[in-house]
Formats: sequence, structure tokens, C-alpha cells
Amino acid sequence: MSLLIENLHANVDGTEILKGLSLEIPKGEVHAIMGPNGSGKSTLSKVLAGHDDYEVTAGSATMDGENLFDLEVDERSRAGLFLAFQYPAEVPGVSNANFLRAARQARLPKGEEIDAVKFYHEMYEKMDVLEMDRKFTARAVNEGFSGGEKKRNEILQMMMLAPKYCLLDETDSGLDIDALKVVAKGVNAMRSPDRGFLVITHYQRLLDYIEPDYVHVMSDGKIVKSGDKSLALELEENGYDFLKEEVAA
Ligand code: ADP
Ligand code: MG
Ligand code: MG
Repeated sequence: MSLLIENLHANVDGTEILKGLSLEIPKGEVHAIMGPNGSGKSTLSKVLAGHDDYEVTAGSATMDGENLFDLEVDERSRAGLFLAFQYPAEVPGVSNANFLRAARQARLPKGEEIDAVKFYHEMYEKMDVLEMDRKFTARAVNEGFSGGEKKRNEILQMMMLAPKYCLLDETDSGLDIDALKVVAKGVNAMRSPDRGFLVITHYQRLLDYIEPDYVHVMSDGKIVKSGDKSLALELEENGYDFLKEEVAA
């Protein structure tokens, strides 16, 4: 059981950005992708999410054997793939609680109804982990939320949807250290043998709090190096210059 990406090629506006990327994320593992700006990290997450600016030209991506590219965007999500940015940034007039409830309802088998008492109990429990004030349940989704509050809310959405594979693209950007720790706490609470994570980050800092099993370096649309968590520390210290040296050699 894994999220399996093989020889993935993808274009934006006719320019190839992903150039044969392969990566396997088995359930139970946390993989991190690091890499210089412009290497295609966000392109990878958007291609997996099904963003329509991106054209897949070769290769495959499967989730527990199911071809992701056969599924519509919302079907990918209901099949258990979570990508925070695929949710609307703001939903005026819809409370956070109702938004989450509708998303949960959409994932139930036909005819089954959410148990409201259980739902609220679970939501409050998770909000406590994320140190979120209860007032956020009544407020419109992300409307007037600060950057840190939006990120926490993303993680709350992820916790409530209980996906099989979670993709976090630069979840750490713009977070102060306290917010970062809270976000990491939410992710760590969700780690499980039934779930895989792909954490994309430009900085090593996040990985102090979310310890990855594997770290991959992406450059020019491909994974060029993989290692354990010590690779992230190495990159923090020495930067990405080794990529240029390898290209020159
Ligand atoms: P990273 O997340 O690693 O910084 P991106 O995936 O954002 O990299 O970008 C990779 C390359 O693809 C960059 O050169 C970027 O300009 C280009 N790119 C990404 N998305 C688009 C788009 N929608 N239109 C045009 N170019 C894009
Ligand atoms: Mg970037
Ligand atoms: Mg990016």
C-alpha cells in the first residue's frame, strides 16, 4: 500500500517542469522533499492534486493501486488524498464547523448520516491539540484569519478528513516558531501505520519537529538524491551547491 509515482513528466504552458520523477511513499512513512526554488516541488503537488494548468505527458501516479489521473479532483480527495491548498482559501458565509461537517458527510457511504454529537466532540478534541480557540468553529472559513490561523485550520481540516495520504507543500512558510510547533504536533498526532505523508519544504527547520523517515532532494524536475533525516541537516549546512558540482562533473 503506497502512493507510487513513476517516471512522471508534466508540462506547464508547453514547458516541461517534471522530468521523470519517481517516488514511493508507503503507508506509515513520512517522506520529505527539499530542493532549491523553482525545482518543481509545488508543480508535483499540483499535478497530484489535479490542477488543470498542468499537463501530464508521461508516467503514472497511483494510490494503493488506483490510478490518480483517472480521478477527478474531488474524487482524489474522497479517495483519501489530502492537499491543503485544494480547499478554498475563504468560504464567506459558511462556518468552519459546517464546512468540515459537509466535507465529512461527503465521505460517508450513501444514506449514512453524521452523528453530530460525535462530530463536535472529535472536532473539539482536535482543536485542543492545535490550541485553537472554540470561536473558530462559528467563524466563516478562513475569513479574516491570520496566516498562522489559516495554517492551523488547514491542519484541522486534514485531521477531520482522516486521509490516507497527506501532502503538505511549504506548510511552514510564514509561520513563527510557536505556530510551527503546533502544526507539527497536529501532523505527529496523525502519524499512523495506515497513513503516508509527503512534506515539501524549502527549509530544514520544519523537519526538526516532523521527523521524516526519508528525505529526497528535488532538482530540475527529478529526485536527484535520497537519504535519511541526516540529509536534511547536511543540506541546511552545505546548501544545494553540490547539485551544480554534480551537473558540472
Ligand atoms: P518550487 O515549488 O520547487 O519552487 P515550482 O513547482 O513552483 O517550484 O516551479 C517550477 C518551475 O515551473 C518554475 O520555473 C516556475 O516558474 C514554473 N511554473 C510553475 N507553475 C507555473 C505556471 N502555472 N505557469 C508557468 N510556469 C510555472
Ligand atoms: Mg517556490
Ligand atoms: Mg513551491
